[in-house]
Order: sequence, then structure tokens, then C-alpha cells
Amino acid sequence: MNVDARVVAATADSLAPTPEIGRVGVIGAGQMGNGIAHVCSLAGLPVVMLDIRQEALDKALGVMGGNMDRQVKRGLITAEDKAAALARITTTTDYASFGDCDLVVEAATEKEDIKRAVFKTLLPHLSPRCMLASNTSSISITRLAAGTDRPEKFIGMHFMNPVPVMKLVEVIRGIATDEPTFQAIVGLAHKLGKQTSVSEDFPAFIVNRILVPMINEAVYALYEGVGTVGAIDLAMRLGANHPMGPLELADFIGLDTCLSIMQVLYEGLSDSKYRPCPLLVKYVEAGWLGRKTRRGFYDYTQDPPRPTR
Ligand code: NAD
Repeated sequence: MNVDARVVAATADSLAPTPEIGRVGVIGAGQMGNGIAHVCSLAGLPVVMLDIRQEALDKALGVMGGNMDRQVKRGLITAEDKAAALARITTTTDYASFGDCDLVVEAATEKEDIKRAVFKTLLPHLSPRCMLASNTSSISITRLAAGTDRPEKFIGMHFMNPVPVMKLVEVIRGIATDEPTFQAIVGLAHKLGKQTSVSEDFPAFIVNRILVPMINEAVYALYEGVGTVGAIDLAMRLGANHPMGPLELADFIGLDTCLSIMQVLYEGLSDSKYRPCPLLVKYVEAGWLGRKTRRGFYDYTQDPPRPTR
């Protein structure tokens, strides 16, 4: 394409109408998938949510109901809003259910091979107009998009945890993402009551590029005996005015997700300052993944949760 042709193509792209988003698909019914389904359905959008595990879908419906109950108690929504939102959500283990979606948001486990396999299985079932978003915390949007048949309709839509409460969505354009897709996703985030911050497509984007190395450093401080779990968290809550200590936050995010993000930073930026702490690796190998498995840096079978070191 010569320069003139590129200018014409870029102008046509920016003049193209922004696609409407009616029906939304969500892949992965874990803590993020259920939060994304929650906010989309409350905003009036029909949602279909898929997981490979039926028990994850059943659990997600229970979690959403409980979280909406809390919103009703606080006067943020009515009981009728809750009932209508839950009625807009269907769950499935069958990719054929995504046929009439305008957007599918992938929120499966933070492993590139899993996400690639998900998109490969999904693509044959989609309408040509359907846009794709990944909620990945760290993986290259450009690389994920290149594995699909529609890189121009592929984008990073990085919600924060817990989705119904947190006000930010990071939006990440891959190298091929077109302007209508970008505008549609920013518009959807605003409709969901979120603010957007735009990040370039580099490992872990903005929030996790800064946040997760801090968490990894807290795990190093624990590993090297600088402080106990309680001391490190108290120090950062009261000393740096963080609402949660870094180890408490790591348990909340999921230690497997934190480790995957550090691995993406370490490999993607080839810098030893991002090496994952061996203690974080050991916890993940033990299956101690934080709140979701009821044990991480704290033991959540106790009330209040008891530090494990
Ligand atoms: P999670 O472990 O709670 O849930 C992941 C879900 O994906 C599970 O229910 C699992 O059964 C499902 N899954 C795994 N393989 C699948 C497949 N092949 N097809 C369909 N479903 C599959 O994890 P999470 O915390 O919800 O994270 C999901 C995504 O969101 C990750 O990419 C993560 O990096 C990102 N994210 C997480 C946070 C956080 O704080 N936890 C914040 C922002 C973004």
C-alpha cells in the first residue's frame, strides 16, 4: 500500500460507524468472568457465559446473586434490577451459544496456550461482525489477535477485581485493532459506569507493570525474612496508605495469576528485575493460590484469616 492509499484507509477506518454491542459472551466463569457478566447484565445487556467446568458456572451464578444482594442492601440497585439482570444471563459449556454475540470477552485462566485454544475453538461459531476482547492481565494483545481470523476486531479490555466495585477498565489496542472496535469498547466501558485508561500493548500494560512487581517484592521481603506476613501488610497499609497489604492483595488476585504476570514480564522484557520470587513459585506449586483455594499467604478457613508465616 502506498502512503496515499494508507491515508485513505486510515480515514475510512476512523469514519466507519461504531458497532453496536447488544449480546455479550463471556468465556471463563472465575472471579473475573462472573464480575464481567454481572456488570454487563446490570447494564441491560444479555450475557452468555461459558466455562469448561459446570461447577464454575454454578458457583458464578451464586456469587453474582450474593454480590447483587449486597448492592441491593446498599441501595445501589433494586431487587427488581437484580432479578432482571440474573434473567439476562445464560450459562453454557457449548461454544455454539456464541453465534449471535456482538462481543465475546475472554476471561479464562492466565495462560497463553489456554487462551489461544479458547479462541481457536470459538472462531468457527462467531458471526463475522463479532468483536473479541481479552481480559488478560499481561499477555500480548497483538499476539493473541494474530492467532484469530479478525485481528482488526480484537482488543484488550482489562477489568479490575472486583469488577462491580472497581472503576477502571484498561483498554489495550493491538497493532491491528481498528478505530470502530476501539470506540465500541470504550463506549461499552462507559456504559458499564467505568473510566478507561488507554495502554500501549507492552507486557502487563500499565496497572500490572507497576502493581505486580511490587507484590513480587513483598514476597521477596517475606522470603528473605525482612518481615512476617502481618508486618509486611501492616507496613504497607499504614506506611504507604494502601487499602490492602501487598500479600493480602496477592491472595485476592490469585497467586497463580500473579506468577503468570511476573513470568510474562520476565520473558517479555528480558530483565532480571522481574524474576518471580521462588517463594511465590513454591506456593503456586503447592496449589496455595490465595482466597480462591482458601489458603495462600493467609489461611481463610480461620476467621479472621490467619497469616501463614
Ligand atoms: P480464575 O482462576 O478465578 O478463573 C478462571 C476460569 O477460567 C476458571 O473458572 C476456569 O475453569 C476457566 N477456564 C480455564 N480454562 C478454560 C477453557 N479452556 N475454556 C473456558 N474456561 C476455562 O481466574 P480469574 O482471576 O477470573 O482470571 C481470569 C482472567 O482475568 C485472567 O486472564 C487474569 O489474568 C485476568 N484478570 C484477573 C484479575 C484478578 O485480580 N484475578 C484482574 C484482572 C484480570
